[in-house]
Amino acid sequence: MNCNYTTLAKDTITKCPHCESPHITTTEACTPLGFCTDYDADIKDFNGRFDFQPYTTSLTLDAEAKLEYTAPCHNLTIKSNILPKNGLVHQINTNDGKLFKVGRLPDTNRYVAKEAYPPNNQPYTFDEKQIALIASKTTGVLALSINKQTPQTDLNPLPSNQNHEEIKAAFISWGYLLQRAICSYLDIETSEIEVGYQINKNKQSEIFLVERLENGAGYCNYLSGRIFEDVPYNAFIKPFQENQPIYESLMQQEHQTQCSSSCYDCTRDFYNQQHHSTMHWRLGLDLAKIAHDPNQPIDFTAPYWHSHIQTITNRLKNPTKTNNTYIITHNNQKILITHPFWSTEYIQTLQTTHHFDKTLNIIKAEKLTKEI
Ligand SMILES: [Zn+2]
Ligand SMILES: [Zn+2]
Repeated sequence: MNCNYTTLAKDTITKCPHCESPHITTTEACTPLGFCTDYDADIKDFNGRFDFQPYTTSLTLDAEAKLEYTAPCHNLTIKSNILPKNGLVHQINTNDGKLFKVGRLPDTNRYVAKEAYPPNNQPYTFDEKQIALIASKTTGVLALSINKQTPQTDLNPLPSNQNHEEIKAAFISWGYLLQRAICSYLDIETSEIEVGYQINKNKQSEIFLVERLENGAGYCNYLSGRIFEDVPYNAFIKPFQENQPIYESLMQQEHQTQCSSSCYDCTRDFYNQQHHSTMHWRLGLDLAKIAHDPNQPIDFTAPYWHSHIQTITNRLKNPTKTNNTYIITHNNQKILITHPFWSTEYIQTLQTTHHFDKTLNIIKAEKLTKEI
């Protein structure tokens, strides 16, 4: 569940084949033929508005999906399905982990959620069960991951890396930046392409893009570069470079000062509310930078970090800056502000010059106010 590995198989597994976690959640899931809230009400036309909130659902790629590698683009590894039938995805609603309690009404095939009725008017039901709701489809899917890293970074997404949560948040943020870039490139609505995150079988973070339409409209196949080889560069990498509209809109002074992590002008939308509190557009841009060229340094010298790190460190105590390294002092201890992508080896090399006592990553530092 940590890594989003999902299979509909009935066999029991004791260990996740992707992240090796022993914590496997097995749930009875069903796909209803239809939903109805009131069987006695008059039938009305759909007015185009959903009254339910879709943010408790999560998008997962089925373990049976068969994605094939295409030519890499710069430092991006790209996989996609050539035939829609090989891209099986699920939208799963576990009711925030609580599942839905349903029971069958006598003499019908209808299952109802008894708790939805007024307490004094609950119907008799039998065959009660706890279920998750699942909607599955096959469509165009494209998965993106980072190929190479330098010793400066460690993007290991497993819990053995103390920054694994920030790394996951970075990939999800990059995913939504990519959604914006792709939809602008293809001139389509962002609702046409959905974004998912998983840890793949090589134990790497992977962003997958899913076409909204059943069987797909062909976007992912086009984006894969199988037809025109310059498409992946133009859709996934170029939009995050200087002088490109998406990059420049993120870099606007007003956005930089007002958006410390994410907002509706960068990575947020109504459908990704479950990620609003963790997404971080600056970390997303750092991944876009690694996707372009793994040899570019990842630190706070990037233009989008510059004023932000100064604001954060000035708010804390006694900031000092040497060679683009930020150290704050608290209780006579020197604390190095680190980037969540930095490897332990890289932090050790900084230790030999800066002699700090502790480290604090910038995402945690942001959440602190004056006193630490
Ligand atoms: Zn796993
Ligand atoms: Zn923003």
